[in-house]
Amino acid sequence: MQLNARVPEGPLQDKWDNYRENMKLVSPANRRKFKIIVVGSGLAGASAAASLAELGYETQCFCFQDSPRRAHSIAAQGGINAAKNYQNDGDSIWRLFYDTIKGGDFRSRESNVYRLAQVSNNIIDQCVAQGVPFAREYGGTLANRSFGGAQVSRTFYARGQTGQQLLLGAYSALSRQIGLGAVDMRTRHEMLDLVVADGRACGIITRNLINGAIERHNAHAVIIATGGYSNVFYLSTNAKGCNVTAAYRAYKRGAAFANPCYTQIHPTCIPVHSERQAKLTLMSESLRNDGRIWVPKKKGDKRPPNKIPEDERDYFLERKYPSYGNLAPRDISSRSAKEVCDEGRGVGESGYGVYLDFRDAINRLGEDVISERYGNLFQMYEKITDENPYKVPMRIFPAPHYTMGGLWVDYDLMSTIPGLFVAGEANFSDHGANRLGASALMQGLADGYFILPNTIGNYLASQKPALVDVKHSEFEKCEKEVCEKIKRILSVKGKRTTGVFHRTLGRLMWDYCGMSRNEAGLKKCLEEIPRIREDFWKNVIVTGTGEHFNMMLERAGRIADFLEFAELLCYDALDRDESCGAHFREEHQTAEGEAKRNDAEYSYVSAWEYKGAGEKPVLHKEPLKFEFVHMAERSYK
Ligand SMILES: Cc1cc2nc3c(=O)[nH]c(=O)nc-3n(C[C@H](O)[C@H](O)[C@H](O)COP(=O)(O)OP(=O)(O)OC[C@H]3O[C@@H](n4cnc5c(N)ncnc54)[C@H](O)[C@@H]3O)c2cc1C
Repeated sequence: MQLNARVPEGPLQDKWDNYRENMKLVSPANRRKFKIIVVGSGLAGASAAASLAELGYETQCFCFQDSPRRAHSIAAQGGINAAKNYQNDGDSIWRLFYDTIKGGDFRSRESNVYRLAQVSNNIIDQCVAQGVPFAREYGGTLANRSFGGAQVSRTFYARGQTGQQLLLGAYSALSRQIGLGAVDMRTRHEMLDLVVADGRACGIITRNLINGAIERHNAHAVIIATGGYSNVFYLSTNAKGCNVTAAYRAYKRGAAFANPCYTQIHPTCIPVHSERQAKLTLMSESLRNDGRIWVPKKKGDKRPPNKIPEDERDYFLERKYPSYGNLAPRDISSRSAKEVCDEGRGVGESGYGVYLDFRDAINRLGEDVISERYGNLFQMYEKITDENPYKVPMRIFPAPHYTMGGLWVDYDLMSTIPGLFVAGEANFSDHGANRLGASALMQGLADGYFILPNTIGNYLASQKPALVDVKHSEFEKCEKEVCEKIKRILSVKGKRTTGVFHRTLGRLMWDYCGMSRNEAGLKKCLEEIPRIREDFWKNVIVTGTGEHFNMMLERAGRIADFLEFAELLCYDALDRDESCGAHFREEHQTAEGEAKRNDAEYSYVSAWEYKGAGEKPVLHKEPLKFEFVHMAERSYK
């Protein structure tokens, strides 16, 4: 397997312009001769499908929900970054680029991150033009707030429902194309495999989730925009349906999987309240603009928060990171919360919680202003916990949230399989070992609206791939394998539900491969995962058949993939014998408990190649070169 990132030559600031000036073009009349499949209709998929169809390509888009607008992107609360510098507080494209590179602990590609910062400003213009109701200042200009890991206000937002509003924008662009007949939208269709013929991605196999029909779809290029895999931990802030299936099955067909061990734990989620819970709820990071995070100074102090006097509170982030305070990046804030809870100073029944307190902000700004900024989040918190956050501090704790790893892509966002492109959270690009807040939405939309429409055109014009007939033997073989897998799941007829296996896997991953990891724990995971997998294939129960709507069957397929993918994640975590960003190896920490990187040996992207069932995958390394920034120790003090 060859990893060629295909980064254009020249100064960083000019690479993307150079690329576009020199790329090959498909003329407008020829575009309709090319067919493109987009799997996923979240921000990345919907923006890509709408833009490609607008350009004139024959576009087909798939999602497993009943409507594109139910994609998980709808859950994003806090905001989307862009370097507009409306605040005049010193922001610039360079600063957004630098914050992102530094926030990712120098484990991402300079060229991609710089391009992301460049196109961030176009995204805001595009979304405003679509009518996305961003918050505005009194004079009508767009408002901004700050997010973790930045000292400037560059986050555009629509109350606490930014993802929903952005998705409605992308969805309306997509709907327009569906209405024009330019996008063939297939809802309730799940991609179950990628078809590769003559070394190129040439289509997919899907299952119609309503009637169980297995279908073949061919195309000149395929885009996977299927989101992240945080649900490998079972409990996470992701929607229940989020999964790794499309990306993992593409990996099994030859696409390298990059940095699977970079999984982000978000510091501000509502703490776990029961063993039987199915998901966790995020409280947006934007709350940290006004909320102050603290725990009692004394261990085991069970007094109600309002009874704990000021001098007996430890505002631990403000104490440890005075420059960034409560806006310290997510990995750092999450670990700090874990640390105080491990010391026995955590709050709430379980002791795994810290306070997020708005008392001072309410006294300073008034309840109305706080309600204006975060009203829907406060309401959501109260509905879930039955506590009024205007009166009592919220209780929060870190939870699995986002995955920086994903299919490896080059500068064109093309995987190691020619013709297979990957966008949004499903690819590994841009965030390195840790994602700063408000940059996932930015990346998904950058990929879909601005990058893929150029790079796919370049691929089609220069490679001129042929459309492979769905009767081709590779389609036939692939479909057969998909059907056999479904049959195998249905034939187990065991006694335990898919949820039991998922919970067992998730617990193991959270305990040994979650917020922090060590060699012994990772080796334990690598021994346990195959056992859980074996047990699954002997004892799982899936009732009904494959010929109708059967959510048990859908879930079983996704959990079967998580049970294989988790092993890959642990291999990667074990290989990376350093701490960086969200990957915290306990063996490598400074005297103050901060992550200790090892640039000399680990400054690479790990890209794993599938070698067959039960075989250890092979690691390939893409060395990371920093020509334009100096790799410095990451400090937020
Ligand atoms: C609670 C929450 C809040 C967040 N808040 C923010 C925020 O404020 N700012 C920010 O920048 N980021 C935020 N994020 C992260 C951000 O929302 C996601 O990273 C981003 O929306 C992912 O978009 P996507 O298009 O890549 O994937 P998704 O929106 O997850 O879309 C995936 C799509 O793929 C489809 N799909 C998946 N598998 C298959 C398959 N096998 N076959 C067919 N279709 C498939 C789904 O149907 C769906 O349409 C938040 C995340 C969460 C969980």
